[in-house]
Amino acid sequence: MKSTDFNYAVPHSLEEAIDILKLHDGEAKIIAGGQSLMPILNYRLASPQILVDLQAISGLSEIDISQSGTILGSRVRWVDIENHIALQQAQPLLCAAISHVAHYQIRNRGTVGGSLAHADPSAEMPGLAVALDASITVIGTNGLRTIDAKDFFLGQLSTSISSSEIIVSIKLPFWPHERKWGFSEFARRKGDFAMAGAAVWYDLNAQGKASNVHIGLIGAGEKPIRLNQAEEKLEQQNLTLSLVEEAVLASLASMSFQSDIHANEKYRRSLMGEMISKAFSQASEILKNK
Ligand SMILES: Cc1cc2nc3c(=O)[nH]c(=O)nc-3n(C[C@H](O)[C@H](O)[C@H](O)COP(=O)(O)OP(=O)(O)OC[C@H]3O[C@@H](n4cnc5c(N)ncnc54)[C@H](O)[C@@H]3O)c2cc1C
Repeated sequence: MKSTDFNYAVPHSLEEAIDILKLHDGEAKIIAGGQSLMPILNYRLASPQILVDLQAISGLSEIDISQSGTILGSRVRWVDIENHIALQQAQPLLCAAISHVAHYQIRNRGTVGGSLAHADPSAEMPGLAVALDASITVIGTNGLRTIDAKDFFLGQLSTSISSSEIIVSIKLPFWPHERKWGFSEFARRKGDFAMAGAAVWYDLNAQGKASNVHIGLIGAGEKPIRLNQAEEKLEQQNLTLSLVEEAVLASLASMSFQSDIHANEKYRRSLMGEMISKAFSQASEILKNK
């Protein structure tokens, strides 16, 4: 099937883009890489009057690394992250996880802002945004506003921004060099969406105890989440793999997982447990040996 007819605008500023979105009042769609939107249009799951292409707006494709953190412009593509040497040092967990996104052709066009706005719970970027305590800046008729990632995603393919707001950038807090981290995901084929994925990180204090324990889950439900109950149990502990597994299993037992054509609930819960354990093992050689 092909999409219904639509008009096409290429504004040169955010203000111009917002004016077009406002004028069409919910009947306009932003297009970035088109990797999610074009299939949606071709299946006629959406029939906008006009597409607003962000490609001619300057300043949206920058990657800015500083002592206060890393800012990724909304039009930064997966391939830009992959090719950015300094980013590997500044945000290693981000880079490791993004290497799992899709295939080359899609990575060459797909963008950070498009993935955040699309809000697929099995996609890496939304999960990372929540796992990394990121904040997302959007612009609309009332100017700029910044939303914590944990409040940005409302459910499957649903976010807290309006149809006339544009994602400008995402900010990831500063990442200390010595921070422990791991990422693990399972997909049936390389480049497919994750069936289950886990991003974990923590800091070690002078006594070797874990602090700031973060466990972010991808593909665990309607939106990206953190495993708060297990995080609390592991905080200020000397981590061992058995301690991690005990805390994680108890937490996962109280969560519901979907059953579908790909896997039942029991399998998905078990797979998620495995991904979290693998991510923790990767985070610390010490854990591997205990
Ligand atoms: C075969 C295939 C496999 C894939 N595998 C994976 C995978 O493994 N992991 C993964 O994470 N993704 C995967 N993707 C999705 C891919 O990463 C897309 O790039 C991404 O979901 C959307 O980015 P985009 O720039 O193409 O957005 P578009 O398709 O252009 O837009 C997507 C949505 O976001 C909106 N939007 C875009 N930019 C903005 C903005 N700045 N502000 C507000 N709204 C905006 C659009 O209106 C639209 O609703 C896959 C896609 C395909 C086709």
